[in-house]
Amino acid sequence: MKSIAVYCGAASGNDIKYQEATKQLANWIVTNDYQLVYGGGGFGLMGLLAQTVLKLGGKVYGIMPKELFERGAAQTGLTDFEVVENMSIRKRRMLELSDACIALPGGPGTLEEISEAFSWARIGDNNNPCVLFNVFGYYDSLKDFFDEMTEKEFLTQHDRDKLLFSDSLITIDKFINSYIPPEVRKYK
Ligand code: AMP
Repeated sequence: MKSIAVYCGAASGNDIKYQEATKQLANWIVTNDYQLVYGGGGFGLMGLLAQTVLKLGGKVYGIMPKELFERGAAQTGLTDFEVVENMSIRKRRMLELSDACIALPGGPGTLEEISEAFSWARIGDNNNPCVLFNVFGYYDSLKDFFDEMTEKEFLTQHDRDKLLFSDSLITIDKFINSYIPPEVRKYK
């Protein structure tokens, strides 16, 4: 069974539409027979995503740093649950266990995780495709910023094309299934 790592807000956002998009992604995960790998949290979009996947009969693997676990952040009833020493190990484990990475709307934690996954892809440490599920244009300004990086030659067009921003699960599915990791970054 293939696995998808999903990063998303430990908050829910101020509009029900983010929760609806989360349920839509959960449904896509189960329909496409993926296991969900995520941060193990029980709050916000994270909790909703895991609960919805489970409700639909899917599998959920949660990975949580010790500190957050001790603070009571975990979702109960997951198929698999792992407590790790710290956030760095958690992020590494999530990539190891998954075949693709998707970010739903979220805050700085979500941004950090998907950015790290993409930056590691460029140095040969992550073979998973990275996608921002750009529902309701949530990530439009970030997309513009990545385009600006490319225009200003801090990111090559070849590598830019390896990061997808899309609100269409059909497009996302095609991208994941045809993905070839970027050539390992060279320096000059
Ligand atoms: P944020 O987008 O800032 O809400 O942070 C969410 C991301 O950071 C998630 O994908 C988690 O990996 C991590 N994270 C932050 N807060 C929590 C929490 N309470 N429980 C589990 N993971 C969390």
